[in-house]
Amino acid sequence: MIRQFEKKVWLATPTMHGEELKYMQEAYNTNWMSTIGENINVIEKKMSDYIGCKHSVALSCGTSALHLAIKLAGVKPGDKVFCTDMTFAATVNPVVYEKAVPVFIDSERETWNMDPAALRKAFELYPDVKVVVVADLYGTPAKYDEIKEICNEHNAVLVEDAAESLGAEYKGEKAGSFGTYNVISFNGNKIITGSSGGMLLSDDVDAINKAKKWSTQSRESAPWYQHEELGYNYRMSNVIAGVVRGQSEYLGEHIARKKEIYLRYQEGFRDLPITLNPYIENDMEPNFWLSCALIDKEHMCKQERSATCATYIKESGKSCPTEILDKLAECNAEGRPIWKPMHMQPIYKDCPFVSASDEAVNEDIFERGFCLPSDIKMKEEEQNVVIEIVRSCFA
Ligand SMILES: *Cc1c(COP(=O)(O)O)cnc(C)c1O
Repeated sequence: MIRQFEKKVWLATPTMHGEELKYMQEAYNTNWMSTIGENINVIEKKMSDYIGCKHSVALSCGTSALHLAIKLAGVKPGDKVFCTDMTFAATVNPVVYEKAVPVFIDSERETWNMDPAALRKAFELYPDVKVVVVADLYGTPAKYDEIKEICNEHNAVLVEDAAESLGAEYKGEKAGSFGTYNVISFNGNKIITGSSGGMLLSDDVDAINKAKKWSTQSRESAPWYQHEELGYNYRMSNVIAGVVRGQSEYLGEHIARKKEIYLRYQEGFRDLPITLNPYIENDMEPNFWLSCALIDKEHMCKQERSATCATYIKESGKSCPTEILDKLAECNAEGRPIWKPMHMQPIYKDCPFVSASDEAVNEDIFERGFCLPSDIKMKEEEQNVVIEIVRSCFA
């Protein structure tokens, strides 16, 4: 019998260190309790330097950064935009804020990210598309050499949603540097957090200045409130920026902890019919934000999912994400299903979906995959129990 955790073991929660409070206090003491201040200036410079993008603007969240990226990319009502299919809805919702139509692109199996072959096929079907939004799933970069080449062939603008992949690398370059416009997030569950917050990065100084203006209600320089363009209240608070500033000193440490967790799962599952979320070792170093697992086809028991609930029929030696997530929850540990692909979402059911194969890769990964507790405060003994819970499902 596997014991219950007394204290819940989480998927991914904030991990504070003390410096966050120091910089928040500084904002308070100097009265920069606003969307202007030293913390904002410091993190914009720091993130630009770290990622290798010349300019950046700190915003209220990753979603607002994505919205401004979509506007900068010139998306107009009715336009089609190629988007990652298996991701959080925040990657694609901003396309719809601008009344454009997402076209969802299936994933490949080597990184679970947008499949270059499917993207190529999508350009054959929709040659007029001018914007591509790619998310780096669970901290693993997409195949940017191929994706950028295809975008260049079609004069399309690339937007990189690096909300989950801050600190990850592809061929020696940092995630958040591959698009013309790039987005990171400081949401509470990300690798570092501000409790909320996000950032837009680009080498194009004019674009970043435009985004900065839009994010502060689009005021023109005039002696009164003068407006020529639609504005938004999307700027980051200097208090939040203090949290981000403190956390930024620990990004490397957080990544190292996440990698230890990933490697321990890999070792623990060695003799189980399970593989972890894959990456290409020669080309990339993920930030290992979430450890995820995929159950071999032959070891899947029958699992039924309706729009809002799931059931399964137990078979010895076999399991499924529903059983494993139920067992984890019973033991007071938090797992999650893989992001349900956007083309399977009721809100997006009428949008086109392009796959390079007859069977959608993402439907299969969603069916057989799940996210494991990946909290960096999880102790080794606790992770060993999580591994035993998963093992017990295949008994
Ligand atoms: C978290 C996340 C976002 C949204 O970021 P927020 O800061 O929560 O708005 C966007 N895309 C992906 C892939 C994410 O995981």
